[in-house]
Amino acid sequence: MPATVPVRVRLAPSPTGTLHIGTARTAVFNWLFARHLGGAFLLRIEDTDRERSKPEFTENILDGLRWLGLTWDEEPVVQSARIEAHREAIKQLLESGHAYRCFASDAELAAMRERQQAEGRAPRYDNLHRDLSPEQQQAYIAEGREAVVRFRIDDGATITWNDLVRGEMRWAGSDLGGDMVIARRAPADAIGDPLYNLVVVVDDAAMAISHVIRGEDHIANTGKQLLLYAALGLTPPVFAHTPLILNQEGRKLSKRDGVTSVGDFRAMGYTAEALVNYMTLLGWSPPEGIGERFSLEQAAAVFSFERVNRAGARFDWDKLNWLNAQVLHGLAPDDLRQRLLPLWQARGWGEGTAADGAWQEDLCALLGPSLSLLADGVDQAAPFFTTPEPDEAALALRADAGSRAALTALLERLPEGPVDVETAQGLLAEAATAAGVKKGVLMKGLRAALLGSLKGPDLLTTWLLLHRLGSDRERITAAL
Ligand code: GLU
Repeated sequence: MPATVPVRVRLAPSPTGTLHIGTARTAVFNWLFARHLGGAFLLRIEDTDRERSKPEFTENILDGLRWLGLTWDEEPVVQSARIEAHREAIKQLLESGHAYRCFASDAELAAMRERQQAEGRAPRYDNLHRDLSPEQQQAYIAEGREAVVRFRIDDGATITWNDLVRGEMRWAGSDLGGDMVIARRAPADAIGDPLYNLVVVVDDAAMAISHVIRGEDHIANTGKQLLLYAALGLTPPVFAHTPLILNQEGRKLSKRDGVTSVGDFRAMGYTAEALVNYMTLLGWSPPEGIGERFSLEQAAAVFSFERVNRAGARFDWDKLNWLNAQVLHGLAPDDLRQRLLPLWQARGWGEGTAADGAWQEDLCALLGPSLSLLADGVDQAAPFFTTPEPDEAALALRADAGSRAALTALLERLPEGPVDVETAQGLLAEAATAAGVKKGVLMKGLRAALLGSLKGPDLLTTWLLLHRLGSDRERITAAL
């Protein structure tokens, strides 16, 4: 391909389900490649399967891509709106003799497959209607039969291309399953619904796509599509087939693995930054110097297919969790608050009781460094928004005389107004001395009273946050 061809890539999702992690990863590689070369990243909604395509899936896919930061450059192309162009191309292939009408019935095709199976051969169309005479065609039409349109695939053909990931690729025409259906069954004077391989070629050419980057499960389609490009007199794009995402057992990640849609990861509390970072690592080895935690822009600056592996990429939850923790730990308290607020509000928190944004930011500053999932920011914030039920260890402490005496002494000294860290430290020391216990005893008792547990974030900060709500007095009193 001449160097002057502008780089234009596309993601071509079918809106027959929510945004799948595999599709999203394909989007990441397309986006990185386009941004690296200053090209355009486009979308095409492949909605030709009218029964299974739903507008809400299109919405879900676009939302997911937006959430991940995978911005696109032109209005998405809607495939179904281009059906006339697809029919034109089929007409052209019929006229040039590259395609023909096949009248074989379902029963005949099934019988053919059975025969092949019985003979131990791979199922394929036997090209039987390839050279029907006009009289034979008329006879089928008179019978009332409808016809599909098939594209001739020369068994002797060798299809080659230079794949950006897999290098020199070679495919035998005889391995493509016989003449391929490019339009569904319809009366012989019409053209039925155009099918995937034909439609993709016509659309990629019309959109001036320079590079087709997609999962390796499409490799056999690429063989067929290259034959279509040649028959239609179109220049094919460069192809890059990316490795599949595998589950822990090394099999292709599928719905059976549970979490597979981008929305699932989002709902589980993964950040877009971590997920997109992780997907980039699924099959791409970053060059030295950028480490494993990077932004899309940082990856785009150094992205190339030379560092995309051929082998499937095994999904690694530990790495995703690690990245997510890195992202969460690095968020400014205000940013974290913006992300947690909807989750808090879903629990009925964050409004009314402690609507004060500054207080919430301080809570985020306290919790941020210990979060791995956003959802942890709900669990860990719970004792700040509602009075926690004490656990066994906290209950046991309530019976401890030293701890009770120290808490009582603290309560007596607790001011109504604001308390700063220094004052708080002074109060703790005074109360412990007055009760005749070590400061540690009071600290333990205070934590149990405030949080209902002996575990939790930094005690002094926790106390001061609760003091701002006036809940420290309440909780200490309840523990005595
Ligand atoms: N609609 C196809 C899919 O979702 C697109 C394949 C392609 O990129 O050509 O798998």
